Amino acid sequence: MSHISFSELKNWNFCPFYHKLTYIDKLKGFRGNEYTAFGTAIHDIAEKKLLKETFEAAENFIQRFEECLAELDDDIEFREDPEKMAVQAIGIIPAIMPAVAEYFADGYEVISTEERLMVPIDNEEGYNFKGYIDAVVKTPDGKYHIIDWKSCSWGWDMRRRSDPMVTYQLTLYKIFFAKKHGIDLKDIETHFALLKRTAKKDRVEIFRVTSGNKKMENATNLLKKALFNIKKKNYIKDRRSCTKCDFCRSPECP
Ligand code: SF4
Repeated sequence: MSHISFSELKNWNFCPFYHKLTYIDKLKGFRGNEYTAFGTAIHDIAEKKLLKETFEAAENFIQRFEECLAELDDDIEFREDPEKMAVQAIGIIPAIMPAVAEYFADGYEVISTEERLMVPIDNEEGYNFKGYIDAVVKTPDGKYHIIDWKSCSWGWDMRRRSDPMVTYQLTLYKIFFAKKHGIDLKDIETHFALLKRTAKKDRVEIFRVTSGNKKMENATNLLKKALFNIKKKNYIKDRRSCTKCDFCRSPECP
């Protein structure tokens, strides 16, 4: 059974030929950096905090961050000092649970963390949507809330908050979470939780992203368009993305 994830869809939308190089030819495109290592480590801490696990958070973060940094290729050049980033994380950690408690002020129950989705896509026989939902909580009004943790520097501007290729992640998680569990779409809301490294205040900001019928239709159409072209092996080069691409002027994409 084949599958497509949101990151695969995002890469296809970036450039179908980039998608071919990385997903079909299995070449390494973006290889991660100190920011992705930070993101993985702080995600783990946020998850443990939400589950109310007892652990030494700062120590745990540093250990995980070091592991993630060690996994990076040796030739990756860092733009930021990891030690400084570790100090930034220690400023975020105590703000996580108060921010969640304030946002869901009427109370909440944790339904799942790191929930795996592998859900058939309607009218796309043999294809599943794959994803991992960071957290799902349920509030006393019966609503399910899908949360995705995002680490960042000072925060997100309006353009980023409303960028479809950012917010469709939550839209697709909503659609396939609903399908997996047989939950009515109107009972599911979606949110990003920003974990801000350099902000002076509000180090953790949770905000709702609406995913109404039109947006769900648009996200589904994009998913279907990508699958149609991937199946047809239409590997068009989208030259608008070249300046941001790891393969720019490389032998793989001259
Ligand atoms: S260099 Fe340009 S055309 Fe080639 S894979 Fe990257 S974005 Fe696509």
